[in-house]
Amino acid sequence: MNDDCIFCKIANHVIESTYVYEDDLVAAFRDMNPAAPTHVLVVPKKHHENIVDDVPAETLAAMVHAVDEVAKAEGISESGFRVITNTGKDADQVVKHLHLHVLGGTFLGEALVTA
Ligand code: AMP
Ligand code: ZN
Repeated sequence: MNDDCIFCKIANHVIESTYVYEDDLVAAFRDMNPAAPTHVLVVPKKHHENIVDDVPAETLAAMVHAVDEVAKAEGISESGFRVITNTGKDADQVVKHLHLHVLGGTFLGEALVTA
């Protein structure tokens, strides 16, 4: 838990959010500035800056499982969805705590969709 990190606080319920899925390793909650009808962020409960910041395989697997659970809960498993993770400056990563954007609920087209 990084005391200066907003997603550490949300993932560990120091600050509450609108949760879509949660287990021991990860939390999924709604993006406050949605870019699609479904826009959910999947984050590990432990602080990792990005997807290549020594994330344990168990945590990565839990994040993929959470994406599946989010898609089911949102009813977009069949219609499809997009998963994005911004890493570093050129990707314009704003929050420096690993998060997967799960976007769906409409046709997303070819655009590189971000928040
Ligand atoms: P990025 O770091 O560019 O991949 O995106 C950060 C995302 O986090 C953006 O889509 C923001 O809208 C979202 N965000 C930032 N703060 C919060 C918050 N407190 N609750 C929910 N979503 C947030
Ligand atoms: Zn954090």
